[in-house]
Amino acid sequence: MRIDILTLFPAMFQGPLTESILARAVAEKLLDIRFHDLRDFGLGKYHEVDDRPYGGGAGMVMKPDVLVAAIEKISAKEKPYVIYLSPRGKRLTQITAEKMAKKHEWLLLVCGHYEGIDQRVIDGGFIDEELSIGDYVLTGGELPAMVLIDALARHIPGVLGKDESAQDESFSKSLGRKREYPHYTRPEEFRGMKVPDVLLSGHHKEIEKWRMKHLG
Ligand code: SAM
Repeated sequence: MRIDILTLFPAMFQGPLTESILARAVAEKLLDIRFHDLRDFGLGKYHEVDDRPYGGGAGMVMKPDVLVAAIEKISAKEKPYVIYLSPRGKRLTQITAEKMAKKHEWLLLVCGHYEGIDQRVIDGGFIDEELSIGDYVLTGGELPAMVLIDALARHIPGVLGKDESAQDESFSKSLGRKREYPHYTRPEEFRGMKVPDVLLSGHHKEIEKWRMKHLG
């Protein structure tokens, strides 16, 4: 899957994309991540990307001409599915991530900042979907974009190793979209707390029954 990211802060993505499973997915070309610095599309001597809100009020609004120039440049030959990360968007869920990973080969993630983006970028059809990662407000769309990439990557074939299946995880179809059962590992007893006997029994049917009973 190719994911382009339009952001004022590309450096923020270092870490989440350069470690662990996502780094491996990038190295193995299962994920092709490309950054576009919105500042490069800024206007005037100071490469301005934002301006004061009409109607007054605190904060700045990201300019539609700058954003659309960037989106159009990235989409010049072929059109990606464009997602604006926004607290006003539809809530990201496991089902959304599963479907999106199957349906789209190329996403463009637009990261807002300040008060957000000029509504005409959305109304003008330059955004295909507004997506929220939860009912709280973050300073920018970069962390939400990273959350989305991580949630999607888990559903791209080959990204998870043999021992890291996306099946039987919380909210997966195979667990009836419920929360997963608890896990235990060695030692058998830790600070007076014992691993449930059934998990030590080797009875696969009983273990399965116990696990299903302990879904959240
Ligand atoms: N004024 C906006 C509001 O009240 O809905 C909040 C803007 S927020 C400070 C700046 C940017 O962070 C947004 O444009 C969006 O890209 C991103 N953002 C903040 N919270 C988010 C969330 N829960 N989900 C997705 N993106 C979010």
